[in-house]
Amino acid sequence: MRPMRAALLWASTNPWLANRLPRHAFARRAVTRFMPGETLEHALTAALRLRDQGIPTILTQLGENVADAAAVGAVTDHYSHALDRIGAEGLDCYLSVKPTHLGLDLDYDLCLSSLEQLTGAAAAHRNLVWLDMESSTYTDATIRLFRSLRANYRNAGICLQANMRRTADDLASLLPLAPTVRLVKGAYAEAPAVAFADKGDVDAAYFSHAETLLRSANGATHQVIGFATHDGPLIRRIATAAEALGRRRNSFEVQMLYGIRSREQLQLAREGFRVRVLISYGEYWFPWYMRRLAERPANVWFVARSLVAR
Ligand SMILES: Cc1cc2nc3c(=O)[nH]c(=O)nc-3n(C[C@H](O)[C@H](O)[C@H](O)COP(=O)(O)OP(=O)(O)OC[C@H]3O[C@@H](n4cnc5c(N)ncnc54)[C@H](O)[C@@H]3O)c2cc1C
Repeated sequence: MRPMRAALLWASTNPWLANRLPRHAFARRAVTRFMPGETLEHALTAALRLRDQGIPTILTQLGENVADAAAVGAVTDHYSHALDRIGAEGLDCYLSVKPTHLGLDLDYDLCLSSLEQLTGAAAAHRNLVWLDMESSTYTDATIRLFRSLRANYRNAGICLQANMRRTADDLASLLPLAPTVRLVKGAYAEAPAVAFADKGDVDAAYFSHAETLLRSANGATHQVIGFATHDGPLIRRIATAAEALGRRRNSFEVQMLYGIRSREQLQLAREGFRVRVLISYGEYWFPWYMRRLAERPANVWFVARSLVAR
């Protein structure tokens, strides 16, 4: 792993930095590039703006590894309210949640019951809830949560990471469920024993899993395939593979993050791709922001510019 990326991923897990850096105005200025604001209303305003441009969205409140059951209750209430607000605005806008934000570290059953509450509420709104995939410590438990949810709800989705060596097996074991899957490259620092270190290997695995998903998707109700990446050439290779399999480019979603490759998002939408943008918001943005910087260390220059900007 490149040293700058490794340093940023290390910083993302450092509590001392997480406490101090967000207090600085320059850091708060810099993060606005990837985040419309800290509140749900900021996120909804951004989602309405994107809707006007023909782009549907996903919302996620930033937060992870909560410390107690009261915090889990607050996050669950927040997301229930978000579902109501999304419904009231008539937005095509999913939710995406981190299991550790809903207490996975504390109590598996508490986390599952919060997820069931949210997925049930989303079903009533004809909406969908995705499980983010966090570091490899949580992969087994997240897949278990997804399987439990899918026993009662078809409107649950899961994220799988192409950098993980196990993902081909995980995907094969989930395919009989006709799962809703978001494929990503993987944002966490992982040991070489569990994850590919070489970017070329990650990209090759991504394409291979994308082909598997495209081959297997049978148009089951509620099944959404999301290719979440900003890698334009990879998206176009996947579209070509889809066409060779007799599938249209709008039979899957291309999902990108708010503020990253915005022009390309619009261009792909104009070309007939189903583009969806994930909007993150919230006060607890430090670890998530460090992971965004690690994805493109050149972004650190934007932070440096914010340091001198008035
Ligand atoms: C909708 C969505 C949901 C995600 N959910 C998860 C999840 O649940 N779990 C998880 O582990 N990861 C998740 N990720 C992050 C993902 O794993 C990657 O870390 C991230 O998408 C960067 O990889 P890439 O696929 O864009 O490809 P890369 O090869 O890293 O990047 C392709 C090109 O995109 C541009 N780019 C990529 N990232 C940035 C950036 N931060 N800033 C500026 N330009 C950039 C660069 O120009 C780069 O050349 C998600 C990503 C998206 C888009």
